[in-house]
Formats: sequence, C-alpha cells, structure tokens
Amino acid sequence: MSVSRRSFIQRSSLLAASVLLPMGCSDGTDAARAGQRTAIVIGSGFAGSVAALRLGLAGIPTIVLERGQQWTVAGTDTFPTTTNFDRRATWSIPSSASSQAGQPGYAGLLETIAGANVAAVCGACVGGGSLVYGGVLIQPAQTEFERVFPFLSYAEMDSIYYRRVLDTIGAAPIPDDVLATPNYAAHRTFIRDNSAIGYEVQRPHTGFDWNIIRQEINGEIPPAASIGEYAFGCNSNAKLSTDKNYLRDAVATGNVEIRSLTEVEVIRERNPQGYSVMCRQLSAEGEVLDQYELAADYLFMAAGSMNTTRLLLKSQATGELKGANDRVGHGWGTNGDLLLAQNHPEVGTGFQGGPACIASVDRSDAQHPVTFMHSPVSIAPIQLQMSMSVPDVPGQLAYDLQSDATLINWEKDTNTPSALARQASFERLITSNGGAQTPFIQDQIWHPLGGAVMNDACDELGQLYGYRNLFVVDGSLLPGSAAGVNPALTVAANAERVMEGILGGVLRR
Ligand SMILES: Cc1cc2nc3c(=O)[nH]c(=O)nc-3n(C[C@H](O)[C@H](O)[C@H](O)COP(=O)(O)OP(=O)(O)OC[C@H]3O[C@@H](n4cnc5c(N)ncnc54)[C@H](O)[C@@H]3O)c2cc1C
Repeated sequence: MSVSRRSFIQRSSLLAASVLLPMGCSDGTDAARAGQRTAIVIGSGFAGSVAALRLGLAGIPTIVLERGQQWTVAGTDTFPTTTNFDRRATWSIPSSASSQAGQPGYAGLLETIAGANVAAVCGACVGGGSLVYGGVLIQPAQTEFERVFPFLSYAEMDSIYYRRVLDTIGAAPIPDDVLATPNYAAHRTFIRDNSAIGYEVQRPHTGFDWNIIRQEINGEIPPAASIGEYAFGCNSNAKLSTDKNYLRDAVATGNVEIRSLTEVEVIRERNPQGYSVMCRQLSAEGEVLDQYELAADYLFMAAGSMNTTRLLLKSQATGELKGANDRVGHGWGTNGDLLLAQNHPEVGTGFQGGPACIASVDRSDAQHPVTFMHSPVSIAPIQLQMSMSVPDVPGQLAYDLQSDATLINWEKDTNTPSALARQASFERLITSNGGAQTPFIQDQIWHPLGGAVMNDACDELGQLYGYRNLFVVDGSLLPGSAAGVNPALTVAANAERVMEGILGGVLRR
C-alpha cells in the first residue's frame, strides 16, 4: 500500500497526538492537560525488554515498536528446526527504500546483513535475540571487563545488574542430573578435554528452563532442546526468552504497549522537544498495511547494534536528525568471535543436547585470554566451539543513502594478537584430544556489537551526544566486544544500569 506524503503527514499528526496520551486515555486534549511524558522504545530484544519493563514500572506511558512477529509456542512445529528449516527462519522483507521494495518476503526470525568480509546475523521478532540465541548468559571476568569498560564499576555490575537480569529471566546453570544423561555426552567430553589441559571450565547460567528439559529427557513431552533443537526458538517452550518475563511484566504494568510487525524506517527530531518515528505496519508476508508517524518525549534505541546504528546513520543522512555527532558507526566489531570446529575421535553423528551451557577459558596468554563456548550441533560428526577474545582492531558501520544499504567496514582479523591467541588455544586443545580442525561457517557472526559506543557517540547513560532525551540502550553501546564472552547478559545488564541511571536522574530533571 502506498501512502502519499500529504496523507502521510495528516495521519501522522493524528497519531502523534494519540501517542502523547497516557495509556487508557481517549483524547489528545486530556493528554495535553495531563502533561504526562511518554516514551517510544524501538526494538524488543534484550535491551528493549529491559527498557520496556523499567519504563512501565516508572509509570511512563510507553510504546514498544518491534518489526518482527510475536511467536507463541503452540505445538511442536511453532519454530523451524535444523531438519525443518523453512521461511520462518529468515527475515526477508525489503525496506521500502530498497530496490527490492514491494517484493514478497517473510517476517522470519533471523536477519542476515551481508558485508564484504563478514555477515552479521541478528534476531527479528518480539523478544529479538532472546528467541534465537543459544541460551548462554555468561558474565565476563573482571580483568577483561575493566579492559573493555574502564569507566564502569565491575563490582556494581556484578552485585546488582548481572544478578537482576539472571533473576528476572530465571536463568540457571545446567544441573548435575541433566549433564549426566546420554544427551549431554558431548558436553562431558568437552569438560574432560579442557580440564585435562588446564583450561578453566565454567557452567554459566543459561536462559532455559531445566525442568522442561528434564521432562523432554524423561519422555513426558516431545524432545527439542535436549536433542539439539534450541537455536531458532524452542518447540518445547524451554527457552526463557524475554517475551516470557521482561516483556510480559512490562505489559502487566498497564503502561506498556508492544506493537509487533511495526518497523521504524527513520527518526525525526521535533521542536521544541521530543522525537517522532516513521514506521510501517507489516503483514507477516511483508505487505505494508499502514504507514504512520508516532511521537514521544523520550526515544529509546534498542534495535540492536546493526539496526540502531543503521537508523541513526540513515536519519542523519536524510537530514531528519540534525545534531552534530560524527561518531555514530564507529567502534563496531564482531566480539572477537570465530566458530571453530573439530572432527573429534569420540563425537559421533548423533544429536548433542542443548543449549550451549559449558564454557572454558584459556588464560595462558594473560594479555589475550580465549573463551570457548561448547556449541552443540547435530548436523555433523563434529564438536563445535564458539571462540571469543577481545578484538584488537575496531571496524565501522556506514550507511549508503542511494542503495539504502548498511555497509560493514571490517578487516578479517586473522593476524592480530587476539586472533593468533584464539587459534593457538584451539590447536592446543585438538592436539591433546586427537581431533582435527575442520572448516565450518567462518564468514558469519552472531554477536555484532557497537556503532553508538558509550563514552564515544553516547555518554555513559547512552544519551546520544548532541541529542537530548535520545537514549541508546542496546548492544550498540558496547565497543565491538563484550569482554571476551557471549554478549547477551552484558547487553541486558548494561541496559539495566543505564535505565536505572536515566530514570533516577536524567528524566527527573
Ligand atoms: C543465532 C544467534 C545465537 C546467539 N546466541 C547467543 C548466546 O547464546 N548468548 C549470547 O550472549 N548471545 C547470543 N547471541 C547474540 C545476542 O542475541 C545479541 O547479542 C543480543 O540479542 C543483543 O541484544 P540487543 O538488545 O542489542 O538486540 P536484539 O536482541 O537483536 O534486539 C533488537 C530488536 O530490534 C528489532 N528491530 C530491529 N530493527 C528494527 C526497526 N527498524 N524497527 C523496529 N524493530 C526493529 C529486532 O527485530 C529485534 O527484535 C546470539 C545471536 C544469534 C543471531
């Protein structure tokens, strides 16, 4: 459906008035009299979920705009699986400015953004990355954390914000009885091999309900996570994605509304205050059902590193954001990730239970410690590890107005000290266990971070320099690294820290 510029503006002014309403009020005059401040959150992944709950609890009328679908487990075929991989797995809806606009597509779970040297993958649904992630909620070590975030207090993050996220999600490490079952033999092999060469083995928290996984193993319900089907959502409902905790609780405050299948295309500054967003409401098949403009006093960017950065760059390029800030796009990175696979003498072709729940850390190079996350796969006779180290060289995201494309400027980091440390650690492991390295996907990353980095493009509370009341709260704030581990827990805990600071300080002034 195409909407003329004229009618678009007319519609938008009506909706701009309506969003200024406190939820439940019916007319713009009441809202203006009430003088209540309102918020828009773009994106409902880890950070957007945290922002929504904290805004709702603070009594601020908030609308969460999420481009993807709401997925609710109903039967064993809700989500695609590795053996039943179909259009549900892929976000394939072109933007309205792209050359593909109007082509059919589908609002599937994962978006892939291709760059010259690497492709970044991210979640596209209510709950964002929390539906498609491997479940790992790991906390970085203090040394690496302080290296990457020298201006943050590790003690405060440790005692307050990491715990708050783990408690709200209900996360827990794999219990002994589950680890002892045949489904988790590959995990036990990983623990044995890594312990044997002195790597520090950890059982991080995971965002899965281990009681449901027990029911799977006991045959009480059809298996999913316990046979390695945990990556594109989880058909047994074992995954504790944020739609089941943070977002549910946010809506329960009565102050938060979530609009799924609503994609923000550009952000505009409003005078004398606030922001508006141009969005389009989609069908699951990508048909544009409506286009409108929505306004609020406070804008929270939680579209993830790739899309928050894209929206900011695009809005600057189109002149809708006018404040000076030439740091957007900088400090982007891959989290120092590399998937490393080995043909292991004891790992067969059968399934490996999930989720990813055992890590090991090699600290033999004190300057470049390497974390391995055992990543269960059931598609080949291999043992797969996500290796991570703090990267040495940052990349950059850019936006091309003519093609409407996000550009990833990133040099493959094969010869940097951290990359060499990663490879050396892996070689030590396979030499000791008799395995052999085997090629696996190496041109794709799942942990893009940065683009609107704290103390660079934004202040420490995520307020974008040059823009009052525009806050970045998501993975864009992290400078291309979550301090050598998987990022979701740090993204969410940092969002908790930022929201507490904003609600306790900036928004009170
Ligand atoms: C396959 C896979 C496995 C992973 N496994 C792990 C793991 O086990 N542990 C871990 O720590 N990390 C993991 N990650 C990474 C983790 O998912 C991300 O780091 C995390 O989700 C980032 O949180 P975020 O809030 O910054 O963004 P996201 O969680 O990505 O949320 C962004 C949201 O914004 C929405 N959005 C984007 N653009 C727009 C727009 N224009 N308008 C409206 N909405 C928009 C998206 O649809 C999405 O819902 C994995 C990622 C992938 C892809």
